Amino acid sequence: MGTVRAMRISRAGQALELEEASVPMLGEHQVRLKVLACGVCRTDLHLVDGELPQASYPVTPGHEIVGHVLEVGKAVTELSTGDRVGVPWLGWTCGKCFYCKSGLENLCDKACFTGCTLDGGYAEGAVADARYCLAIPARYSDEEAAPLLCAGLIGYRAYRAAGEGRNLGLYGFGASAHILAQIARSEGRHVFAFVRPGDTQAQRFAMELGATWAGGSDELPPELLDCAIIFAPVGALVPAALAATRKAGRVICAGIHMSDIPEFPYSLLWGERSIASVANLTRADGHEFMRLAARVQLRPNVETFSLSQANEALSRLRHGALQGAAVLIPTG
Ligand SMILES: [Zn+2]
Ligand SMILES: [Zn+2]
Repeated sequence: MGTVRAMRISRAGQALELEEASVPMLGEHQVRLKVLACGVCRTDLHLVDGELPQASYPVTPGHEIVGHVLEVGKAVTELSTGDRVGVPWLGWTCGKCFYCKSGLENLCDKACFTGCTLDGGYAEGAVADARYCLAIPARYSDEEAAPLLCAGLIGYRAYRAAGEGRNLGLYGFGASAHILAQIARSEGRHVFAFVRPGDTQAQRFAMELGATWAGGSDELPPELLDCAIIFAPVGALVPAALAATRKAGRVICAGIHMSDIPEFPYSLLWGERSIASVANLTRADGHEFMRLAARVQLRPNVETFSLSQANEALSRLRHGALQGAAVLIPTG
């Protein structure tokens, strides 16, 4: 038993504090990791703000972990010492409930989540279940790979759920959208980026990444959307996206938390439009996304921070002052 330096949150509403956290004994299916990089996700802000009912405090946040395997548990067959692996949000499932048996382990009633119900990667070291770790394509550096593990792969689940169609709307152009825009462009689709009204920097960023159009989330796009994904945690964007979407189009809510959706006229939904949410990931999603990332060179835009700067990284994310993704480098 040793300790690692970790940025931990003791209860909702508090800033993270640097602590010496004790390292648990390795379970038989677990691996001990040196954390090389850990992405900062909007979900971490919801954890800080007490908006995740499943969260358990105190906890070390961080569910986009790129790590080096230092030690493996007795029953681990998937990984060896020295491997570079990714640890995503889904940390454990029961394997027995209706959802686990129906190919929907993302909805497991007893699931454990990295950096929420399990200690995560805002630390020098972490422990993870090897059966839920993901291989990371060699072409990505540690800091580039970190945002792929949630922004990229849960974003990709939302992308698939949104369905086909040339015109894709992305509401909130942050870590997820800037990766999905690159995937959409590689598939010849047109991206319409909706940002905070007046945020010309974010508009420019979207256009640099190949968006066909970028404008305020209060604007209508020049063409109707075939589908839209909402990343910003703002319920008012649901009727806004429906109004911008053609008949039979889909609007996908990709965040774990959203403010209340305001009342809206039925005519916005009429015409076989649909609204759905995307929750968590399955391991199959993770493997599929990493195969895609190996095939298509994605270029995540990252800004790195030291471990003790975690609060600053979260604050930058909260105020929309990041282009792309924030990544902590704990031992940098
Ligand atoms: Zn289950
Ligand atoms: Zn996330």
